[in-house]
Amino acid sequence: MPYEHILVAVDLTEECDPVIKRAMTLAEPTQTKVSLVHIVEPMAMAFGGDVPMDLSQLQQQQFDQAKERMDRLFNKYPGINRGDSHLTYGQPRQEIHQLAKDQKCDLIVVGSHGRHGLALLLGSTANDVLHGAPCDVLAVRLQKKAE
Ligand code: AMP
Repeated sequence: MPYEHILVAVDLTEECDPVIKRAMTLAEPTQTKVSLVHIVEPMAMAFGGDVPMDLSQLQQQQFDQAKERMDRLFNKYPGINRGDSHLTYGQPRQEIHQLAKDQKCDLIVVGSHGRHGLALLLGSTANDVLHGAPCDVLAVRLQKKAE
């Protein structure tokens, strides 16, 4: 059975190109719907929750920048379903799983770096998304990030 709706999780770096391309290659022969999702993590969360300053302006800038980058991707890949794509605040695993359920997606596509050492202990979004996923998950192997 071909997939009916593929959800591609994008971090909006240049690394999301191979992830989107893989999803499009899978989708094209069967005209499967492809949507994107990007999660903006609340800054306070990154700082451990208790920050003695107002981050709302910075947070808004981060969100606006993410929106611009999503728009660039929609222009670059016209086959993507804009209407079902999402840009939202939250925790990536939780939001991606919820969206996959809400949109009845049957495949989530994420990028994956072969991690080792300390990076392996810190975990990855791909790993996180895989656990408890409501549907199949495809991890697209990415080149090692420059350190
Ligand atoms: P990472 O584990 O952070 O290196 O990211 C690996 C993959 O997880 C990326 O290629 C994306 O597919 C996905 N990902 C990471 N961060 C986000 C995010 N904020 N929103 C959506 N997907 C993400």
